[in-house]
Amino acid sequence: AVSRPDFRLPKSHEAFARANRVIPGGVNSPARAFGAVGGEPPFMAKAEGAYLFDIDGHQYIDYIGSWGPMILGHGHPHVREAAARALELGTSFGAPTVREAEIAEAVAAAVPSIEKVRFVSSGTEATMSAIRLARGATGRDKVIKMAGHYHGHVDALLIQAGSAATTLGTPNSPGVTAGAAKDTLLCPFNDADAVAALLEQHRGEVAAVLLEPIAGNMGLVPPGPGYLEALRALTERHGVLLVFDEVMTGFRVAYGGAQALYGVTPDMTTLGKIVGGGLPAAAYGSSAKVMDRVSPAGPVFQAGTLSGNPLAMAAGLATLETLREGHAYERLEALSARLAEGLGRAARDAKVPHVVQRVGSMLTLFFHDGPVRNYDDARRSDTALFARFFWEMLARGVYLPCSQFEAAFVSAAHTEADIDHTIDAAREALAAAAG
Ligand code: PMP
Repeated sequence: AVSRPDFRLPKSHEAFARANRVIPGGVNSPARAFGAVGGEPPFMAKAEGAYLFDIDGHQYIDYIGSWGPMILGHGHPHVREAAARALELGTSFGAPTVREAEIAEAVAAAVPSIEKVRFVSSGTEATMSAIRLARGATGRDKVIKMAGHYHGHVDALLIQAGSAATTLGTPNSPGVTAGAAKDTLLCPFNDADAVAALLEQHRGEVAAVLLEPIAGNMGLVPPGPGYLEALRALTERHGVLLVFDEVMTGFRVAYGGAQALYGVTPDMTTLGKIVGGGLPAAAYGSSAKVMDRVSPAGPVFQAGTLSGNPLAMAAGLATLETLREGHAYERLEALSARLAEGLGRAARDAKVPHVVQRVGSMLTLFFHDGPVRNYDDARRSDTALFARFFWEMLARGVYLPCSQFEAAFVSAAHTEADIDHTIDAAREALAAAAG
């Protein structure tokens, strides 16, 4: 048995109250407040390998990995050494460095759609800049996005966005003007006919079709067979840029991202999370022709004081090199398949409606009969059961994403024993949550 009947968080409770006095909701990013599952979050003291340690003395097997970046686990020696060496040389220069070209070369070599790439500091900046560039390059205003897909808190993209925006029930945030929203056209995910219809209806007006090629922000929802291929053909026919937001999937589902996994090359790609190795970095890239429209090479303006930050570039490059040279993806596949299979078996035995959806090391156990193909399907999940399950797992030392509408991430630092412990915990947790 792995239960912890004495699970309490008194120090975290105090820390949360303190934080709430000076930080809205006590957190610097909403999902961390556990709003979707009710209750208060443990405050973290440190992380090592596959584990998180809270200030109340609990250890957890970590399945959020900082919401994606920590694919090698926390504190991988190569990444730590690279960041430590960079730290000694200076944390920010506001002037170019050789490492920026080195990591740009690594990204261009890895990601099929990218010849040139610009580094920024967050995924939000990457998608914001990518749609500005798509509009600048095509001279058109409209962008098609998929319901339930999250692209950061860009005004024009906070329309039926997934992630914490879904969880908090505010897909359309106050403060987003009608003007910012009016050029965003919505489609359900996995429905190429809907995209075709919009492209017909708005002939000559659409700059880009933007999507998560594998949705991660409404829980894990893979593209159906032929869907990405259909979008590729449609966008080509209409002269519209196809933009894959691979902030989550880039270097995650394969070294070259979802586009390498499925063999569908978009016109433009956004990256984040893993590319910064756990430090703030993200990027957008495309052909040299498109990217040369970005300032100072071209007229589309985009800049950043901390863009290409030396610490982030060092951690990112060390992460990419470790992924490229090792066998991480085979290991991640084996561990993740074991986890998905074990969770599925546990849920079947507990007789709860469920489906486990997975691509590589991203997965979601939906409390839904399945399959979950789009946002409407996802929203029919039993979120109350999810919340009970989440707390039962936390009490057993397993830190899952705190919402039904988020993907869990396995890292190369997880062991078979961690996976098996998680499955044992899930058996107990499901019995407790469903009972
Ligand atoms: N795009 C996707 C697909 C994401 O998953 C996220 C973050 N979860 C973002 C963009 C935004 O990235 P950031 O939080 O770094 O701004």
